Amino acid sequence: MTSIAAPFVDPAAEALLARAASPRRALFLDRDGVINVDRDYVHKPDEVEWVPGIFDLVREASSAGYLPIVVTNQAGIARGYYDEATFLEFTRWMHAQFAARGAPLLATYFCPHHPEAGIGPYRVACACRKPAPGMLQAAVRDFELRADLSALVGDKAGDIQAGRAAGVGALLQLPSSKADAGEVVGTPLAGLQDAWPLIKKNKHEDWR
Ligand SMILES: [Mg+2]
Ligand SMILES: [Zn+2]
Repeated sequence: MTSIAAPFVDPAAEALLARAASPRRALFLDRDGVINVDRDYVHKPDEVEWVPGIFDLVREASSAGYLPIVVTNQAGIARGYYDEATFLEFTRWMHAQFAARGAPLLATYFCPHHPEAGIGPYRVACACRKPAPGMLQAAVRDFELRADLSALVGDKAGDIQAGRAAGVGALLQLPSSKADAGEVVGTPLAGLQDAWPLIKKNKHEDWR
């Protein structure tokens, strides 16, 4: 059993946790195609084009007490296109961009594996590569979240399947231009601007 890579945890995590709703709930976000436009193996700031509406969504969800957590497959690490240190440096930069816009992220979980294309120890059928729910389950454990009160936004079938397997309550799927995106198996979104109204009315009645 391959263990899940330690997530990048935001420097402001303690403050974020202190002001979160109780019981704790997450806004799980896929990265490529949800946060940044999916240009394949993005790992440098100058490759980033933000998906319209992402900062508004994180701000709205955060002010309602949700903890924003990124869960991302990073086969680029498995394939040797960039290493974990480069990914973590980029992730630190991305977290800082969100913080600077008043929309801090709590943590980024990543899967560095690939079952066929991985090099060396990264070539493994792991429990974390979506559609497996391993990263979501780890976040639920690490931060004592209620999965059923949480929401997930993805752009591929695998994101939604991972969320479903982890018991996440609201599963929202953006359109994707990627050939491997699969079917729409979650609640379809035209764009990120439609996400918060759907999450808000889902069923999260037990605020503190
Ligand atoms: Mg994606
Ligand atoms: Zn993995």
